[in-house]
Amino acid sequence: MRGQTSRQFHAQGVVLRHSEYGEADRILTLYTLEQGKIQAAAKGIRKIKSRKAGHLEPFTQVALYLAKGSGLPVITQAEAIRTFDALRADLLKTAYAAYVVELVDRFSYAEAENPLLYKLLVDTLVRLEGTAEPAVVIHYYEMHLLDLLGFRPELHNCISCGEAITPRDQFISPLMGGVLCPNCRQADASAWPVSMPVLKYMRHFQRTPWSKLEKMKLPAEVEAGLKPLLERYLTYLLEHGLKSPGFMRDITKT
Ligand SMILES: [Zn+2]
Repeated sequence: MRGQTSRQFHAQGVVLRHSEYGEADRILTLYTLEQGKIQAAAKGIRKIKSRKAGHLEPFTQVALYLAKGSGLPVITQAEAIRTFDALRADLLKTAYAAYVVELVDRFSYAEAENPLLYKLLVDTLVRLEGTAEPAVVIHYYEMHLLDLLGFRPELHNCISCGEAITPRDQFISPLMGGVLCPNCRQADASAWPVSMPVLKYMRHFQRTPWSKLEKMKLPAEVEAGLKPLLERYLTYLLEHGLKSPGFMRDITKT
């Protein structure tokens, strides 16, 4: 009896994605408060019209009981905490939410917990559901995700020479981790230009608490530069395997 209970564990998490497995099973990838990213099996979910099924769609925040066996943990009980129905009803917000969970999925490793990242993920989905300005929610998320992953970009001084950034157009380098002044532009051949208005908004998203950004309206011309820049910045880190500074340290040691 005692052995059985010790194999059970509880977790709360957000469903990042799922894949079908065999006739009736589904493998879920979740980001949990307790253990970071985990995979779990939901057995028989497609065969029986399980009440659990509706709770286990992507973005849903769930409380779970799981049983640890020889393979993946199996979900024995699932209860939705938030289902985000209003978010799902809006196509644009659904697309943004897919981007939000994909970044967490791609930047995180199995079973490396980060409670602040979990909180940012849940807060972002809640904000996205309630907002009329999804871009503001997303850019706050992107800048704070970079912080929590250890990639907070330096946006005030040139990352190469250390000079304070003056109000003219600059360059940005994800590889070096921040802004390069025009004199140091050649320090990273892959750096690309960033306009001063876009840089100012990046700083604003980086240092301003959410309570003060909530009502913000983002000028269309800034958004036209900011959206592709932040996506490109994050994609660059992922494509170059810079998933975490710790990971970089590990591979340069060997
Ligand atoms: Zn410089």
